[in-house]
Amino acid sequence: MNLKSQPPALDQTHLLFQLRDLVAGLRHHLEEERAMGLEGWLKNSTLSAKAAPPASKAPDGVPLTLEDVRKELGDCRRCKLHSGRTNIVFGTGSPKAKLVFVGEGPGRDEDLQGKPFVGLAGQLLTKIIQAIQLTREEVYIANIIKCRPPGNRNPEPDEIRACEPFLIQQLEVIRPKLICALGTFAAQTLLKTEEKISHLRGRFHQYQGIPIMPTYHPAYLLRNPNFKRDVWEDMKKIKKEYELL
Ligand code: URA
Repeated sequence: MNLKSQPPALDQTHLLFQLRDLVAGLRHHLEEERAMGLEGWLKNSTLSAKAAPPASKAPDGVPLTLEDVRKELGDCRRCKLHSGRTNIVFGTGSPKAKLVFVGEGPGRDEDLQGKPFVGLAGQLLTKIIQAIQLTREEVYIANIIKCRPPGNRNPEPDEIRACEPFLIQQLEVIRPKLICALGTFAAQTLLKTEEKISHLRGRFHQYQGIPIMPTYHPAYLLRNPNFKRDVWEDMKKIKKEYELL
């Protein structure tokens, strides 16, 4: 465009039109980006991928942190559980944990404190972790869903669908070397199977290239203490792998 050859008024009108087109294009681009938002870059998180994924990156290419994931979760209202919760239970432990425990969802104590596994089942989980010479601080503990279901009922499919992307991101950020799935829901959700926990437990499976050991949920052990022996067998396998890391 040769501005010098055009009368000044035409110049200005032409520039204004160009500017308007530029702004419209930019707005369209931003709207597309926003629409893709979280889901857009979560597309890489499909559970069917074989190899361990690279650490999650925000659209600007900067690796995500757990704080970023928590921020993205925000004051979540993506499913109906938000209306009954006291606190979101995001997860606790080391962002560099080599071992991550995944439970089902917060109960009453967890909902009140905003921390996973702090009730009776949590006390048992703490003992299980200590039994393999680790501490809660050096592992990471999270759940499939982050808000307490009413009356501690099982999570429903729409709730899992809404919440799972955040667990997936947490795992992508931490990139643990081992995962322990506590109970049916965690095992079936992460492994995308309907196999019973009694069939799944006792051996390592693969989640995104990460060995995952399903075992019985600590709350189940409180009701069925004779299964503690099986959990101990599973924990010994985890410990053996952990020591090789
Ligand atoms: N049960 C779970 O599955 N998760 C918790 O955080 C507490 C109890």
